[in-house]
Amino acid sequence: MLSRLDPTKSYRSRDLGFLPIRTELSEGVLILNCMRGRKSFETAYDLQCERSESGRLNTVYLAKRADADGAVYGIVFDPISALPARCNCSGFGRWKGCKHVAAVRELTLRGELQSVPSARGNASL
Ligand SMILES: [Zn+2]
Repeated sequence: MLSRLDPTKSYRSRDLGFLPIRTELSEGVLILNCMRGRKSFETAYDLQCERSESGRLNTVYLAKRADADGAVYGIVFDPISALPARCNCSGFGRWKGCKHVAAVRELTLRGELQSVPSARGNASL
């Protein structure tokens, strides 16, 4: 399923898709497709979750697939809002926002990523 993120100054459109294919190393594959001018860039990431003992989501790691630089981004969740708060990529450092945070936030809001344990329900979302 594709969904659309808000455009930014540098990206005309940003679409994301999530394939919940669970493996030992990942909970699924996140695909981001961004349009810059007339060119589109598609990036796929293996998505891994780091949870606390109580089951709350602390950090989501996005590891670029099929990319020689092997970049891994860490998206840290805010313990109160249970939504992504920051990312370690250079874009977030500069703009205080990035496509990784936007995409993970969207997955959380859509319920494809569970940021709080299901036993307590999703009322806080
Ligand atoms: Zn980022």
